[in-house]
Amino acid sequence: MVRRARVFVFGLLLCLSWVPAEAQLRSLSILHTNDLHAHLLPDARQQGGFAQIAAVLRRETAGCNSCLILNAGDLVQGTPVSTLYQGVPIYEIANLLGFDASVLGNHEFDYGWRKIPEYIRLARFPIIAANVADERGRLLAKQAYVILPVNGIRVAVIGALTADLPNLTTANLLGPWRARPVVDAVRRSAREASQKADLIVVLGHLNPIEEDALLREAPEVAVVVSGHVHAGLESPKNSDGRVAVRLRAYGEEIGRLDLEVDLEKKAVVKSSWKRIPVNAATTPPAEDVARAVELWESKVRKIVDVPIGTAKRGFTREELVPVIEQAMAEEMGTDLAFIQVGGIRDSLPPGTILARHVWNIIPFDNKMVAGTFQGRELPPAVTAGRSLDPNREYTLAVSDFVASAQRAELGVTGLKFSRRTNRLQRDLLIDWIKKKKVLE
Ligand SMILES: [Zn+2]
Repeated sequence: MVRRARVFVFGLLLCLSWVPAEAQLRSLSILHTNDLHAHLLPDARQQGGFAQIAAVLRRETAGCNSCLILNAGDLVQGTPVSTLYQGVPIYEIANLLGFDASVLGNHEFDYGWRKIPEYIRLARFPIIAANVADERGRLLAKQAYVILPVNGIRVAVIGALTADLPNLTTANLLGPWRARPVVDAVRRSAREASQKADLIVVLGHLNPIEEDALLREAPEVAVVVSGHVHAGLESPKNSDGRVAVRLRAYGEEIGRLDLEVDLEKKAVVKSSWKRIPVNAATTPPAEDVARAVELWESKVRKIVDVPIGTAKRGFTREELVPVIEQAMAEEMGTDLAFIQVGGIRDSLPPGTILARHVWNIIPFDNKMVAGTFQGRELPPAVTAGRSLDPNREYTLAVSDFVASAQRAELGVTGLKFSRRTNRLQRDLLIDWIKKKKVLE
């Protein structure tokens, strides 16, 4: 009797485990965002806005039992609310967006690394990074990865931040933390996580070379959800069915990656990706998020929503380079000035110029510095398009960020900027526009 029962149970187990191949397929949808950069409100073209992003995410995930929402870094830095309150309100509001996980971006360091443990405490979603560690190997984010169970799939989400980190942040903000090479760190976490997971996803804030390297050299990684390069991708990068996706910055769009996952092979067998535009003209805001945004925006409105001049036309970020360099040279009384287009974080729409526009263009609290150099000492980044005498002395104004990150920003080392000031680059530009009144 006992023996028969055993045989029966064994037979039943055999039946249960011997299921047709298609039953091993499960669907998974990954909704994702990257580089929101504290753009709480829609821009001049009605794109983005945290309340609109929330509305789109909630619409896309309504009644969904196979959805995850991932955020690929650089949540803070880009608007006055972020600068004035050092990113804290942005994490508070992000709690309403339903993220299942978020990775550290390089700009999460912009108010000093000590703010990051504060963000982690404040966030009601896990913040992960497998490769940001100190000399002793201690992780800043505490968690390298999380395992998220969804629709019967155990999804391991591994965080990774670009190893360029030291070139993107100044030493005092970075403290003891470094970003180790991405592929190695991810593969180590993947080996550990694979015992407990059916699918490995990397949530990365990465440069394109690192995205490609993961697809090429980390076959255990099925999906890379990336951020950092603000241009976004037109279509997914694809390598043997393994995919990498990335969106345009500032919440202009939300990504939706629909996957069919083979649990046995621990692989994606089918995927499709769409980019869903976020437009305030067609998307009513999520009320609770709109209230939270308004609470913080109302605190800064008096400071930043003040007219300071008029723009006769719109200026792209590239077109703002000579304008800002002129402002820096005139206000600092130097022969030359230099700003990287990467340091200019927004375009300028035509019409009334508000102080807010300048805050969005230069959200950083960078201070002005200047130095005197021989023409021949100046790097091509500064001399391009100018005819300078190599044997003459020139004065050059830059931000203290450019001065301290001059290897990455200017392509040189050893330039000494002996004139330090306490004047913010942003304030300088606001003062100059007030005097100039009209930008042509
Ligand atoms: Zn970014």
